[in-house]
Amino acid sequence: MSAVAHPLGLSYWLDTAPAFTGAVEGPVAGQYDVCVVGAGFTGLSAALYLARTGAKVVVVEAGDVMGAASGRNGGQCNSGTAHDYGALANRLGKDQAKAMYRAYAASVDTVEAMAHDEAIDCDFNRCGRLKLATKPEHFQKLEKAYERLIVDGVDRHVKLVQPADMASEIGSTQFHGGLVQTTGAQLHVGRFGRGLADRAVSAGAQIFDQCAVSAIRRLSDAKFEVTSQRGTFEAAHILLATGGTGPSSSNSEPFQYFRKRIVPVGSFIIATEPLSEAVLDQIVPTRRNYVTSKNVGNYFRVSPDHRLIFGGRARFAMSSPRSDGKSGEVLKRAMTDIFPQLMGVRIEYCWGGQVDMTEDRLPRAGTHEGMSFAMGYSGHGVQMSVHMGQVMGAKIAGREAENPWDLNWSAIPFYTGRPWFLPVVGAYYKLQDILH
Ligand SMILES: Cc1cc2nc3c(=O)[nH]c(=O)nc-3n(C[C@H](O)[C@H](O)[C@H](O)COP(=O)(O)OP(=O)(O)OC[C@H]3O[C@@H](n4cnc5c(N)ncnc54)[C@H](O)[C@@H]3O)c2cc1C
Repeated sequence: MSAVAHPLGLSYWLDTAPAFTGAVEGPVAGQYDVCVVGAGFTGLSAALYLARTGAKVVVVEAGDVMGAASGRNGGQCNSGTAHDYGALANRLGKDQAKAMYRAYAASVDTVEAMAHDEAIDCDFNRCGRLKLATKPEHFQKLEKAYERLIVDGVDRHVKLVQPADMASEIGSTQFHGGLVQTTGAQLHVGRFGRGLADRAVSAGAQIFDQCAVSAIRRLSDAKFEVTSQRGTFEAAHILLATGGTGPSSSNSEPFQYFRKRIVPVGSFIIATEPLSEAVLDQIVPTRRNYVTSKNVGNYFRVSPDHRLIFGGRARFAMSSPRSDGKSGEVLKRAMTDIFPQLMGVRIEYCWGGQVDMTEDRLPRAGTHEGMSFAMGYSGHGVQMSVHMGQVMGAKIAGREAENPWDLNWSAIPFYTGRPWFLPVVGAYYKLQDILH
């Protein structure tokens, strides 16, 4: 992508958040109550929770704290499942689908409570999420989804936007109605995540960055030996909060188990230069989170400093500066198709990240060979990762906590971590978008 003000790959959220300076220097050794692997939202939320219970906690992070998905996403903290609730209820039964749907509402509350209780300045804002019908038939599906949510008593905080009323919600002629989930929120994810890291350190957790874990060996029921880039140490409990596959150095068990179950899929984002209030009033008068109804669709929102943050699964490729640049071009075209008013607007940031997808796009959390894990949020994880960090922290501390994601989890056939089938899957979904 040409003429981006900041280096390709630099996340707006990380560039505009205070740096995290609390990482421990030198080797890691000794004995801990809990070892958390991964310093994204899941790991940091769990570390903070556990440190507050008085546990001796170490967090080991392969790269930078908040450097992966948690610091590179769209900043949308939406309520409701990524799946259509009705489809989920038909597949799993009403009770389970309701529990999953409600877990998302609860997880937005968790983020809000944490930001408030920990006094993290992150512009948390209950803006609501508007799903935009890209075809008239998609609006019919949204109407059905709305009815089902109301009839089953799952979510009363939803409202339909009729096609004729769309001008009050969005300054684009591309959409044919929408569905608003009014409890959805947004936040500055960089400031929130680095705030969590600071609070975890203040509560007594030790965080080691640039410290990939390459192996974990079970010594006894309550003792694990962890081999990391900066030394070997022991812990009574392990929480794997790795967002899925992790670095290639972590090829041994237990990482192999997750590599066979999680598919990393690139998702990409551009951020415009700051826009005037007048332009924003014209294109996004209600300042919500927006998601289009296509399979290979787009998501967007406004940043605290008035940029349009516009993302999508632009190409079915892994994120790298080159790939981010190519995806940025695709996203800019998609953005100006929706908002021709933005044709001359400068793109200042362009970055990508890896989404941890499961085969059924439902998260997973539980234990594997005595180790706790929570991952696989499938692109809908800002709220759920923070929530599940707390839930798994509570479980490790021996407390009660509801976990709707302790589900059966089979390996994906013929898959060992290299997603060779992504271009085929991408082509399939793009074709579905043309046909339906
Ligand atoms: C481009 C993009 C846009 C997204 N947009 C949204 C959105 O708008 N709304 C939403 O709800 N969700 C969104 N998501 C998903 C959301 O960001 C994630 O679900 C969530 O951040 C996952 O948090 P996590 O802590 O589980 O994983 P991560 O943030 O990925 O953290 C895992 C950490 O574990 C570390 N790690 C891995 N292996 C090892 C190892 N062996 N040793 C040590 N450390 C290791 C990694 O380096 C990483 O830092 C998006 C994701 C992407 C990539």
